[in-house]
Amino acid sequence: MPDRAIIVVTIILGLASCSPGETSFNSEPSTASPTSEARPGEGTQLSIGTNDRNEEPPLAASNAEGEPGEPQAISLDRLMGSLDPRTDGEFTAIPANLASRQGLYGRKEAVDSLTRMADAARKDGVSLTVLSAFRSFSDQKRIWEDKWTGSTRVEGGRLPETVPDPARRALKILEYSSMPGTSRHHWGTDFDLNSLESEYFASGDGRRVYEWLTANAETFGFCQVYSPKGADRPEGYNEEEWHWSYMPLASQMLADYLTQISPERISGFKGSETAGAIDVVNRYVRGVNPACSDT
Ligand SMILES: [Zn+2]
Repeated sequence: MPDRAIIVVTIILGLASCSPGETSFNSEPSTASPTSEARPGEGTQLSIGTNDRNEEPPLAASNAEGEPGEPQAISLDRLMGSLDPRTDGEFTAIPANLASRQGLYGRKEAVDSLTRMADAARKDGVSLTVLSAFRSFSDQKRIWEDKWTGSTRVEGGRLPETVPDPARRALKILEYSSMPGTSRHHWGTDFDLNSLESEYFASGDGRRVYEWLTANAETFGFCQVYSPKGADRPEGYNEEEWHWSYMPLASQMLADYLTQISPERISGFKGSETAGAIDVVNRYVRGVNPACSDT
């Protein structure tokens, strides 16, 4: 088979859903995976869309006058968490019986499906609790800068002392926390469930929760975007068994984000100057489970 045909087939397979019958395909290393093109250390060659000439995207949906029937692109400001979910008409609160605390919000369609999934889980004796949902740019900035400055200890130490080099310090934080402006939690489609520790999901109740989610979440549109690192997902965050993404909305939001983002837009927080050098968009935003799709 000519190389081009192999690549086309691989792209099609890479777009396949998480349905069980396709896991054998998805276990193959994907030569056409977008993340395979990431080039650490060459951040100035960040692959971005055609919209980067627009330095100031409008605050509202950017193509309100687009073709009838075409989904409207969501503005980069909103995709970077510049909104207030308490007053935003597209957002709603997580139901109290699912939320670990007050003030958790997500996009309405995603929260509706999450609620149905939690109801189904409960009938199977599995309890789902939302620990984190939408986070604004300023929420993420606080999390990031607390680690950057040493206010929050990382692996028992203060990062300015244990990892003084800025790029290496950013990569250490990126093992689990996103740079402000690059988090899927800005989108209102992604939720952290039950525990932020992998150990919880390894045995007992946590194991049962994880097995239930792996078997059933796809039915409700959810996928584990931060799957184990390996041939399928060589770049990005470490595995997060707790982070589930509502793909019917999130896959379009990722496309809108990648079309509009440019390196200079990732700014406004301590350490943001490292974003280009460590190629954060290609390695982390694109570094998601290729088996997740919008089906
Ligand atoms: Zn998360």
